Amino acid sequence: MRLDGKTILITAAGQGIGRASAEACLREGANVIATDINAEALHSLKQEYPHVETHLLDVTNAQAIASFAAQMPNLDGLFNCAGFVHNGTVLDISDEDWEFSLNLNVTSMMRMCRAFLPGMMEQAKITGSSSVVNMASMASSVKGFPMRTAYGATKAAVIGLSKGIAADFVKQGIRCNSVCPGTVDTPSLQGRISSAADPAQAQKDFIARQPMGRLANVADITPMIVYLLSDESAFVTGQSLLVDGGVTI
Ligand code: NAD
Repeated sequence: MRLDGKTILITAAGQGIGRASAEACLREGANVIATDINAEALHSLKQEYPHVETHLLDVTNAQAIASFAAQMPNLDGLFNCAGFVHNGTVLDISDEDWEFSLNLNVTSMMRMCRAFLPGMMEQAKITGSSSVVNMASMASSVKGFPMRTAYGATKAAVIGLSKGIAADFVKQGIRCNSVCPGTVDTPSLQGRISSAADPAQAQKDFIARQPMGRLANVADITPMIVYLLSDESAFVTGQSLLVDGGVTI
């Protein structure tokens, strides 16, 4: 199996892309440490995959990250998936919204990397390589989208954060990449659709911006996550990998 024996920690693993990635890593033989703020979602993951290790972890809580990391084993893989979509133009962004988006989408990933990289470097001394994957988006430095200014700014920062880590630690066996999905059918996307003024039109609009004429499923994204966490991507670092159904052709 492609991730046999690897210990991989995933944030926001309760639902959506994080959960599908946790399941894919489990199926590929990894020891998965699944974290989220949603205890019920983690419980249902554990029921389906009894050998998964689950922990509540709010990635916006700096103290929680530091004390959690101190109890964890050295990791082979870290997938920082947690993130939030702010809907609005720059005129709609309150200081609180901006702070929240930066905190959840970027600062959390910096703190997770800062807390786990020392152990990952120790692990890389034994195995040759450890891999960090950070969740960005096609809505970032790659492309602008209406009503996604705060979101795009934070996801652009994720790409920069990942490249910086890749550059700093390439000689210590750390690889760090970011993934930029297109529009993925997840509970959070369904929430954005149902809270729109005209949900049927919102659904059509999300599909229309995908040249392939459909939304991505989580299973369209997880192969890239598994690849980046596996040794198959041993020569890949500092990249932002698009899985966007052709939006940025
Ligand atoms: P989702 O809303 O379906 O799931 C998000 C999960 O994050 C939930 O289980 C939630 O409990 C957890 N979470 C929320 N706040 C948290 C916190 N403070 N600490 C830890 N966990 C927390 O999300 P999704 O659509 O699968 O998105 C996951 C990631 O993928 C996000 O970073 C998102 O920006 C990114 N992304 C999503 C899409 C898309 O179209 N769905 C596209 C590109 C990128």
